[in-house]
Amino acid sequence: MHFVDLHAQYLSIKDEIDAAIASVIAESSFVRGPHVDAFESGFAELIGVRNCVSCANGTDALYIAMKALGLQSGDEVLVPAHTWISTSETVSQAGGTPVFCDSEPQYFTIDPQQIEARITSCTKGIIPVHLYGQPADMEAILEIAKRHNLWVIEDCAQAHLATYKGRMLGTMGDAATFSFYPGKNLGAMGDAGALVTNRDDIAEFAALFSRHGGKGTHVMEGINSRLDGLQAAILNVKLKYIRQWTEQRQACAARYDEQLCAIDRVVTPVVRTACEHVYHLYVVRTHRRNELRMFLKQHDVPTVINYASPVPMYPAYSAQGHTRDAFPVAVDHADQILSIPLYPELSQGDQDNVCQLIARFAEEFEHVEFAAA
Ligand SMILES: *Cc1c(COP(=O)(O)O)cnc(C)c1O
Repeated sequence: MHFVDLHAQYLSIKDEIDAAIASVIAESSFVRGPHVDAFESGFAELIGVRNCVSCANGTDALYIAMKALGLQSGDEVLVPAHTWISTSETVSQAGGTPVFCDSEPQYFTIDPQQIEARITSCTKGIIPVHLYGQPADMEAILEIAKRHNLWVIEDCAQAHLATYKGRMLGTMGDAATFSFYPGKNLGAMGDAGALVTNRDDIAEFAALFSRHGGKGTHVMEGINSRLDGLQAAILNVKLKYIRQWTEQRQACAARYDEQLCAIDRVVTPVVRTACEHVYHLYVVRTHRRNELRMFLKQHDVPTVINYASPVPMYPAYSAQGHTRDAFPVAVDHADQILSIPLYPELSQGDQDNVCQLIARFAEEFEHVEFAAA
């Protein structure tokens, strides 16, 4: 069994992908060009925003967004402790300081109360991450941002097409960033990313900054962060299928929910009220995580821990001197989480096999205090 099967997705649309790649080569439209323009308008339409500015990857999209918002040395940006390091490393890259916030116990996403507690006179913005495909608590976050005059960048790298109370993720903040890394819900065959925004000033800055500060006249110093034609052409094909693939992910999740909820003390993902989760990852929690992981591995079921530690506890942030008790929820989660296989092409038979193995494990370990409630 695979954890993710990118080849299965390729085979399902092979003719279209091969033709798209051939056309880019025939036209030599390798960097930017018509495929990139088509992708930017297609993706903006899909999300329902005025502007999409493509770039080289989702990490650059965060950096570019913060440069567009004028981040400066000494500025603080509130980020979740439980995320992929891109969210915080780009704050430092843009000259600011990431300030980490603990998670909500049920949802893994940034806790609005922790945001409120960590605001200082230096705070400029908040980057909620819609982790695993689950929306962060946007109503509370937007309210705090408004009251303290902070900007909001939604990190949507794991949350293509997820919704919050009927609103598409990526449309609620000042800007939002997406990754099209191959394993993401909408994945290229290499690195790719984009920033979306309803603010024309941000889009204009981002387009200039990411392309050397302008063509012909350089109105500023920028960086080189471009989407290449091959990736754009591949993404244009996949845009047609992303809704269907999202529904397939949700169907897989529903099947897992149904079977796993019967298993005592394995906690399945809780979806926020009136929200749509898109299951970039299906993450269960259990106190015997390492044993379960080993047991599944012995039965040929690969799993992943996303992520093994809260970001502030990594050596990269040792200079900030964080302690585990500053992030009790994120620390607990890091010890208990396990991502089990989920991708659109995953067969029901494979899913049922995973569930049966988890049930067997739970039975065998019944005499031991086994999981968190
Ligand atoms: C993948 C990811 C990114 C970065 O995307 P890349 O395209 O890999 O640079 C940023 N934030 C989160 C939460 C991610 O999962």
